[in-house]
Amino acid sequence: MQKILVSACLMGHAVRYDGQAKPLVHPAIERWRAEGRLVTICPEMSAGMPVPRPPAEIEGGAAGADVLAGRARVVEISGGDVTDGFRQAAENALSLATETGCRYALLIDGSPSCGSGFIYDGSFSGARHSGSGVTAALLTQAGIAVFSDREIDRLAELVDDQD
Ligand code: SF4
Repeated sequence: MQKILVSACLMGHAVRYDGQAKPLVHPAIERWRAEGRLVTICPEMSAGMPVPRPPAEIEGGAAGADVLAGRARVVEISGGDVTDGFRQAAENALSLATETGCRYALLIDGSPSCGSGFIYDGSFSGARHSGSGVTAALLTQAGIAVFSDREIDRLAELVDDQD
């Protein structure tokens, strides 16, 4: 059975920086949950970040791969450098995916960790650009297929075809 790593906030856990959840309501989620297919993680919380926490973005219009390569930092709106925590978060997510045999991940878009279609540009102005967060980038580099919440139908087709 194909297992799927999934963002905890999508599963209704109130773990986002603002203390909120962002549950994804979709028939596939209920089915996958009942099948025991979902492996839930909040990468940032797994690295010890509190809830709530200051919003953070990848600086300078860079993306997760740049953070992993040491070319960019993740900074809080208050200026704090949280790069190491975001790297640790990504490594925790990859370790869990590897241990549990996840070849797919379903991650919420827009996050500096979990985003895979877009992220914010580091100016805290709401401006966004195409790119992945740090966790999504590391999972992708490891060969795990990352889907955003907006792509759940495509993931469902793939997963259901393989079982
Ligand atoms: S790190 Fe991922 S799972 Fe955790 S709150 Fe942010 S988007 Fe959700």
